[in-house]
Amino acid sequence: MGLFDKFKEVTRKVSEVENNIYHEKRDYLEIYERNLELEREIAERTEELNDANKRMFTLQHIWDMMNSSTPLENVLEAIVNSTQGELGYMHCALIRKCQDENGDFMRIIAQSNDPLIDRLNNILGTPGIQTRRLIYSPESVYADTMKQRTIIQTKALDLTLGAIMPDVSKDTIEKIMTNQPIKSVIVIPLIAQKKEFGWFCVFSAREELAGTEMDFLGLFAKQIEMAITIADLFQAVREQAVTDALTGLYNRRYFEEALEKEVQRAKRQKQPFSIIGIDLDFLKKINDTYGHTFGDIAIKTIADILKKNARSVDVPARIGGEEFNVLLPGINSEGATIAAERIRKAIESIEIDTIGHITGSLGVATFFEHTDNVEELLELTDQAMYTSKREGRNRVTVAQPISETYWQEIAVNTFLDILSKNKIPKLKHLSKELCAKLKTPTNKNEMSKESLYTVADMLTKLYNPMHSAGTVKNKVLMAVSLAKRFDLPKEEIDNLRIATLLYDIGNLMLPQDILQKATPLTDEERNEIKNHPIIAAREILQPISYIQDVLPIIEHHHENWDGSGYPNKIAAEGIPLTSQIILILDQYFALIEPRPYRKKLSTPDALEIIKADMGKKWNENLVKEFISLIEHDIV
Ligand code: GH3
Ligand code: MG
Repeated sequence: MGLFDKFKEVTRKVSEVENNIYHEKRDYLEIYERNLELEREIAERTEELNDANKRMFTLQHIWDMMNSSTPLENVLEAIVNSTQGELGYMHCALIRKCQDENGDFMRIIAQSNDPLIDRLNNILGTPGIQTRRLIYSPESVYADTMKQRTIIQTKALDLTLGAIMPDVSKDTIEKIMTNQPIKSVIVIPLIAQKKEFGWFCVFSAREELAGTEMDFLGLFAKQIEMAITIADLFQAVREQAVTDALTGLYNRRYFEEALEKEVQRAKRQKQPFSIIGIDLDFLKKINDTYGHTFGDIAIKTIADILKKNARSVDVPARIGGEEFNVLLPGINSEGATIAAERIRKAIESIEIDTIGHITGSLGVATFFEHTDNVEELLELTDQAMYTSKREGRNRVTVAQPISETYWQEIAVNTFLDILSKNKIPKLKHLSKELCAKLKTPTNKNEMSKESLYTVADMLTKLYNPMHSAGTVKNKVLMAVSLAKRFDLPKEEIDNLRIATLLYDIGNLMLPQDILQKATPLTDEERNEIKNHPIIAAREILQPISYIQDVLPIIEHHHENWDGSGYPNKIAAEGIPLTSQIILILDQYFALIEPRPYRKKLSTPDALEIIKADMGKKWNENLVKEFISLIEHDIV
C-alpha cells in the first residue's frame, strides 16, 4: 500500500470513529431525555398515589369509627375534620335539613375546626353560625343539588352563605369573604334511607376540581350517608329494646337499669330520688264492658299523661299490664307527692270517648327518706299504691319509712296473735273489739301506729286504773330518743319499741286484787308480782316466733344495775341496755302517776328519786341522759 492509500485509510477510520462518537452522543442524549421524562412521570404517579393513600386512609378511619360504637356526632365531626385537614380544603361542613311546625329549615351539625369558622363567627357575632336556624330556600344551590341529586360546584360564595342567612347584610357577607383564598364551594346532597338528610359542603381554594376529585368527594358523601344510616338503625334497635310497643313508654328493663344508675348517683351525690307508682283503677271492668281495645286506650291515655308530665330527666315506664312507674331523680317525697297529685288530677280530668272518665291509684316512695335499699323502695312504692286502692282509689299515698312500717307490722301481728288465741283470759270479752281496732287504722299516714298505742293504753288500764291515755306513746317516743343517744342500731331500736308496748303484759295474768291493793303487799304477793316479766316473756310471748329478739328485753326489765333486781339477778353490762331504758321509763312514769297508796309526784321530785338510785338500779350514764331528755323536753 502506498503512502497515500495509508493516509486515506487513516482518514476513513477517523471519520468512522467520529461518526460512531456522534451517534453514541445522540443515543445518550435520547436516553437522558427519556429518563428525565420517566422521572417526571414517576413523581406525578407518586403524588397521585400519595393522594389516593390519604383518601384511603381517611376512608379507613371513618370505616373504623362507623364499626365501633362511636356516637354519630363524633363520626361526623371526624369526617369534616379529616376532609378539611388531611385532604387540604379550606373548610367543610355538614348541614342537616330539618322540619318543624314552621316548615323546612337547616342546621349545621358538624363543621371543621379551622380559622375560617372563627372569623365567620367573629363577624356574625351571636348567634354563631353553628347555633343558627338557617333558612332553606327553594331557590338556593342546596335545593338545586337535592332536586337534581348531583354535586354542584359554585363560585358564587356570597349566594351560598346569603341564601341560608337572609337576615345578614350583603356587606357582612362580603366582609366574611374578603381576603379569603376560597374560590369555590362544592355542595353535595346527602340521602339516607331514601330521605333527604342534608348537605356536605366543601370550601376549596381552587376554582375547578379535577374529575377524579369530584368522584372522590362523591364517594366520601356515600360514606357519610352510610354512617348516618347505620347510626339511625342502631338508634331504632336501641329504642325498640327499651320502649314498650303499646305506649311508647320505657319498658321494665330500661326502668330497672335507670334505677340502678340513679341509686349510684344518689349515693355519690347524697341526693334523694323518688318513685311514683301508678295503677289504673278498674281496668278489668273497662275490658269487660267495652272490650280490650278500649282497655288499651285507657292504658295509652295514662301513658300520654305520664309523658307530658315528665321532665327530661324523669323516666316514665310501663312496668306491667296496667302498672306504671316514674323515676324522679333528685326529687324528695314532698316534690314527688306534688308531681303524683298533678298526674292523678290529669288522669281524672280527661274524658275518653265511650269509656268516660278513668282514675288511677298512686304511691310515692323516696330513696334515703323511706329506705336506702332499692328493693325495699320498690316494695314501699307498691305498698303505698295498694294503700291508695284500699282506701278508695283515685288518690296518692306516701310510703312510710321501712323501719316504721316494719316494727308496726310486727307489733300489730303480735297483739292480734295474743288476742285471737285468747292467751290472756282477762281479755276474752275485749278481744273482738281490740282486733277490729288494730285491723282498721284510724289515720292512713300514721297507719297502725296510733291504733297500737290506743290498744296498749287500753290493756294497761286493765291492770292499772291510774294509767292515763297517751302514756304508752310517750314511753315509746322517749325510749327511742334514749336509745338513739346511745347509738343503738335500727333493729335494736325497733325491738325496743315493741318491748315498750308489751313489757307489762304479764300483769294481765295477775289477780286484780293484788294489783289494786291499797295497803302494803305481803312477801308472797310481792313475789307473785315479780313473776310478771317471766310470765310475759315465757308464757305469753315465747310461742310467737317472730318476736324472739324482743323477749330478752322484756324478761330483764326489772334487773338492777347492782344485781339486786329480778328475776335473774344479773348486773351491770349483763343487762341489755334496752331493758334498762324500759326500767327507768317505767319507774319515772309510775312516780308521776298517782297510786292507791300515794299521790303523784312532781317531775323534779321524781327525778330526785331516780338520781338516788344511781349505781343501784341504773348506772350514771343512763340517768344523765334520761334527765337531760326530760329537762330539755326533747323526745
Ligand atoms: P283495681 O282498681 O283494683 O286495679 O282493678 P283492676 O280491674 O284494674 O285490676 P286487676 O288487677 O284486678 O285487673 C287488671 C286487669 O288488667 C286484668 C288484665 O286483664 C288487664 N290488663 C292487663 N294488661 C292489659 C293490657 O295491656 N290491655 C288491656 N286492655 N288490659 C290489660
Ligand atoms: Mg288496676
